[in-house]
Amino acid sequence: MFDNLSDRLGATFDKLRGRGALKEQDVRDAMREVRIALLEADVALPVVRRFIDAVTEKAIGQDVLRAVSPGQQVIKIVNDELVRTLGGDPDEEEGAPAPEESRLKLEVKPPAVVMMVGLQGSGKTTSTAKIARYIREKHGKKAMMASLDVARPAAQEQLAVLGQQADIATLPIVPGQQPVDIARRALESARLQNFDVLMLDTAGRLHVDDALMAEMKAVAGAADPAEVLLVVDSLTGQDAVNVAKSFTDEVPLTGVVLTRMDGDARGGAALSMRAVTGKPIKFAGTGEKLDALEAFHPKRVAGRILGMGDVVSLVEKAAATVDAEDAERLAKRMSKGEFDLNDLRTQLKQMQNMGGLGMLAGMLPGMKKAKAAMAASNMDDKVLLHMDAIIGSMTAKERAKPGLMNAKRKKRVAAGSGTQVQDVNKLLKMHQEMSKAMKQIRKMGGLGGLGKLFG
Ligand code: GDP
Repeated sequence: MFDNLSDRLGATFDKLRGRGALKEQDVRDAMREVRIALLEADVALPVVRRFIDAVTEKAIGQDVLRAVSPGQQVIKIVNDELVRTLGGDPDEEEGAPAPEESRLKLEVKPPAVVMMVGLQGSGKTTSTAKIARYIREKHGKKAMMASLDVARPAAQEQLAVLGQQADIATLPIVPGQQPVDIARRALESARLQNFDVLMLDTAGRLHVDDALMAEMKAVAGAADPAEVLLVVDSLTGQDAVNVAKSFTDEVPLTGVVLTRMDGDARGGAALSMRAVTGKPIKFAGTGEKLDALEAFHPKRVAGRILGMGDVVSLVEKAAATVDAEDAERLAKRMSKGEFDLNDLRTQLKQMQNMGGLGMLAGMLPGMKKAKAAMAASNMDDKVLLHMDAIIGSMTAKERAKPGLMNAKRKKRVAAGSGTQVQDVNKLLKMHQEMSKAMKQIRKMGGLGGLGKLFG
């Protein structure tokens, strides 16, 4: 997620970090670099301006420049402003739920209607099924889905198929029925069958046009939705924000779903959305599978952008795929800064379960650097298996104390796992990076010393 932006900000912070004193000009130079990084990430110009102004004003305050480690303070100011730009509160506690405005509001007389709108291909139908599933898993509520897309051939069937896959009820298809009538029938049916939530997947178009808006308004009028969620593709950057703006003017949007956050989005859509449209991002789509959906946590996303990882999300993800006890033990050890090769091995296994390296890069502290090292050595998911074999060839003592690994032991382990000594070295290096980063986070006791991570 947002690799380029992370790298650019990291490089800027490297320069600030560790300097005993900072002059106003140093801050201004750094802000010029941050500005370019944001513009290259396709963040909307007014948002960039506001961001830079806010950070500069706080950072050149006398207290900051006179402080013991001014560089780190400037970095914290940037972090806090990123959180705010994404719609969050920098002072929220670690592990807190998503901010109020990013949560689904379903506390109305059932069925609560969630209306999904967006352009064709944005991921609307997939997101409809993902959210229905999410509501069942996280809120324990029963959702029914109905497709109002009579324009695209097979759109209704597509939703029915997704419903079958995720075991979510869909409204039976009546050929020839028009959107508003389908919405009414769906409401009636959901009410009669006591569904808590009704998900309405509306028609998309290739572009925003009058006919589409008229249809959305008519459906909203008939269904009185509790939530109107706009689905946009994060890969389209500022275009996604412009689409959101046009929709906001016409239908009462309550939030945004950003899809394809697993791809190489530059960050423009995520960082501009809240400020330009005034609407919160409620969910991020992170893959094609129906469980690839995350509630949007501005603070965690900012943490990922700044390369300090997102341990909370990682542990939550782990909790969904491994058993709760394992996850709790892992979280405890990580928060204590303990991280041996057994832990790494558990994580490698979980990485595979959770969708491989791409998915997780950026969630682990230090993982950005580890990822760069992996890219340099052509590392892919197959390598996860090699790494597992390497750790499997070590003794229990070696796993608990990787420092024991001398040349002789490395040779033995390489032979035992069918790999080369250099592979063993790479694994040990990766473990070292990760455990160092985790220890630092713990020592710093939070964001105060964030800057140290960029060393
Ligand atoms: P719609 O036309 O807006 O209803 O779009 P669809 O829901 O049919 O999605 C279009 C394509 O995008 C499908 O192949 C989906 O699997 C894919 N897709 C949707 N959301 C995501 C996401 O968050 N990540 C990735 N990688 N693919 C997605």
